Amino acid sequence: MKARISTTQFGKETDVIPGPFDYHAPDSLEEALSLLGEHGDDAKILAGGQSLIPAMRFRLALPAVLIDINRLSDLEYVRQDNGSLAIGAMTRETHIEHSEQVKTAYPMLADAAEVIADPLVRNRATVGGNLAHADPANDHPAVMLAYQAELVAAGPGGERVIPIDEFFTGFFENALSSDEILTQIRIPKPGADWGGAYLKIERKVGDYAVAAVAVQLQINDGACASVRIGLTNVNPQPMRATEAEQALAGRELSDQVLEEAGKAAAAQCEPSPDLRGSVEYKRDLVRILTKRAIRKALQRAKGASS
Ligand SMILES: Cc1cc2nc3c(=O)[nH]c(=O)nc-3n(C[C@H](O)[C@H](O)[C@H](O)COP(=O)(O)OP(=O)(O)OC[C@H]3O[C@@H](n4cnc5c(N)ncnc54)[C@H](O)[C@@H]3O)c2cc1C
Repeated sequence: MKARISTTQFGKETDVIPGPFDYHAPDSLEEALSLLGEHGDDAKILAGGQSLIPAMRFRLALPAVLIDINRLSDLEYVRQDNGSLAIGAMTRETHIEHSEQVKTAYPMLADAAEVIADPLVRNRATVGGNLAHADPANDHPAVMLAYQAELVAAGPGGERVIPIDEFFTGFFENALSSDEILTQIRIPKPGADWGGAYLKIERKVGDYAVAAVAVQLQINDGACASVRIGLTNVNPQPMRATEAEQALAGRELSDQVLEEAGKAAAAQCEPSPDLRGSVEYKRDLVRILTKRAIRKALQRAKGASS
């Protein structure tokens, strides 16, 4: 299916609020990839449209061609696959939010799913779109960094797997090339001695984070055997708080060690001042949320359910 989007105003054909674009709705991944190959940098994939449509409406994005992949329903699933949780790129946030296997085995992802935007947005927004948009304010990037997820991209030469640490390459930039489509997100299944938590402060329900922290850790003999920490909306690109991770590695998680980790995360991030707060406020929020998220992850690693 192909269409030209325009409207009639005062008897004259004129463009709608976004710039003019050609619209395609392919029925298969192969067709979508072929269209992407044909149009290259002129084309944009349309998933849930919850970031792309507002950007087009304000003409911050002016794609000449939209390739709507909403008909690719075989990219919408959550399932166990070779020891990982496999999430199809077109899986809606609401699906994650209500998935029992996510609630049971991936509580940090469940934490995030229920604080992303509002129920209306979550009905449309996709996990793949959230990551591909590479917005440092989005919640999935930090969570997937903490989980050490892998992303599967399909392109003309087949599939390739991109480690999450290599996916975010800049401000709203990712490692996908212009002829690739993100198809799957894989999260390794955490062992019994692992725990994770995502804590977000937002000004009001449905808003992006002022700051948020994702912590996934493993406890061994009372000490932190392994840890990964992701931060939301306090850096030009989604980031791991590696200095905080180093402050925790191999140590018992005393209040003093948690404070060191919180301070390290606050010092490493680079928030911008905006209507959500000053740089100082956001750094302090990171310090406190890091400590709280570590405590919650620790409780979960020890078997507490909430
Ligand atoms: C009012 C409002 C509040 C919001 N609050 C939050 C929030 O609190 N937290 C949060 O995380 N997000 C929030 N969002 C953003 C929302 O989660 C978006 O849906 C998400 O950022 C993009 O997902 P999408 O499926 O809508 O992608 P789209 O908007 O369709 O696409 C976004 C970008 O990703 C590309 N893309 C999409 N899918 C693929 C793919 N499979 N392969 C390659 N490229 C692809 C598109 O080409 C586009 O560049 C909010 C949005 C709104 C409107």
